[in-house]
Amino acid sequence: MTGDPPMMRRLNRATVLKLIRSRGPISRTALVHSTGLAPRTVFSIVEELVGVELVRSSGIGRTRVGRRPLLYEFNPTGYALVGVEVRADEVLALVTDLDAQVLGRASGPMSSDLDRTQGLALIASTIREAWISADRRPERLLGIGVATPGLVDCDHGIVRQAVNLQWRDLALGPALGAEFNVPVWIESVAKAMALGEHLFGNARGVSDLVCMNVGGGVGAGIIMNDMLLRGPDNAAGEVGHTTVDHDGPLCSCGNRGCLEVLVATPAIACRMAMLMGPEVEGLARASPDRVVARLAREAEAGDALALRIVDEVGGYLGIGVANLVNLVNPEAVIIGGVLASLGELLLKKVRTTVSARALGMLSNRVRILPTALGPDAGAIGGAALVLLREDILPTQAFLSGQAADALDALRSPTMASGL
Ligand SMILES: [Zn+2]
Repeated sequence: MTGDPPMMRRLNRATVLKLIRSRGPISRTALVHSTGLAPRTVFSIVEELVGVELVRSSGIGRTRVGRRPLLYEFNPTGYALVGVEVRADEVLALVTDLDAQVLGRASGPMSSDLDRTQGLALIASTIREAWISADRRPERLLGIGVATPGLVDCDHGIVRQAVNLQWRDLALGPALGAEFNVPVWIESVAKAMALGEHLFGNARGVSDLVCMNVGGGVGAGIIMNDMLLRGPDNAAGEVGHTTVDHDGPLCSCGNRGCLEVLVATPAIACRMAMLMGPEVEGLARASPDRVVARLAREAEAGDALALRIVDEVGGYLGIGVANLVNLVNPEAVIIGGVLASLGELLLKKVRTTVSARALGMLSNRVRILPTALGPDAGAIGGAALVLLREDILPTQAFLSGQAADALDALRSPTMASGL
């Protein structure tokens, strides 16, 4: 091929950077062998990546003959990312390096009582506070990724509808972009979590996975063949409203027995209040999440009633997971969200239910794992969005040519941010 058109150059650069990240420290000769690219192309890309501090030299390798080669590795510390998770009752903002190591954090109390302006101001001030605690230079911020509840138009950064927060058509991405003057990407929580697990967590290197976010609602992020499944409304994976018990309790969507009314935190709180009495009832109304924390403690201590509830919830969640396993044949299912705090007790029941209900070949293959990123999973998913959407560590899903070219942005001397 003659010349070096920008798209080809970007693809080659992405290939080289991914190889250095996964296989480094690595020599340029080894990169030439692995990529099949011309030596001068590889040499100039490595030089460029070193120039923008995404790659650094890491000593000298061994060889039996000839000159010993310089080795190169990914440099995760040159830049920072901001990842945010918006929940119904809290905003969590993290500053991380490019390997998702947390450098700073802050949180603030979100509530459906806040109007749009107040909600946006809270998110912005939480980001600012996290950034201050990380003590980084503003020009080192590559971008902000926000995992948000609801249906999301991720191409325009708009939250179309988030019932819990009473948001409709909220231009979250553009508002934060204007505030901080860096690229801002938004995504639904379950999808962001799936990307975070894919890049940094328990699904690293797994091409086909499902990540379930089970908290106030239930959603799934589905990655197939390294591509995030979206659908025309970016609503693929809304498994909370699939029917698990056709005669079950009434759901806010008008149907009966949706997965969400059986396993989301309000449902669990309600069940506990029914079985455990008035004391739990008060707590359940105030904070379903704290009820789940209490359930985890009591089940852990061997309380029979708590164990029964975990067993019921695990059974219903298992049916939901078994349906997904039959539908998309994933290698791994990651369970995240508040319910993940129930730990192995919950996962054991999910696994036995999936073994009993999904097709044998599929259930034998699938690994059902907790999130590796704990309560930070959503916010780290937000940080992963920046890397993926800015083509810094693209998977196939994002090599569409529509994302901004971050490496060009990195080269601009004044990436003045609003921090
Ligand atoms: Zn429903």
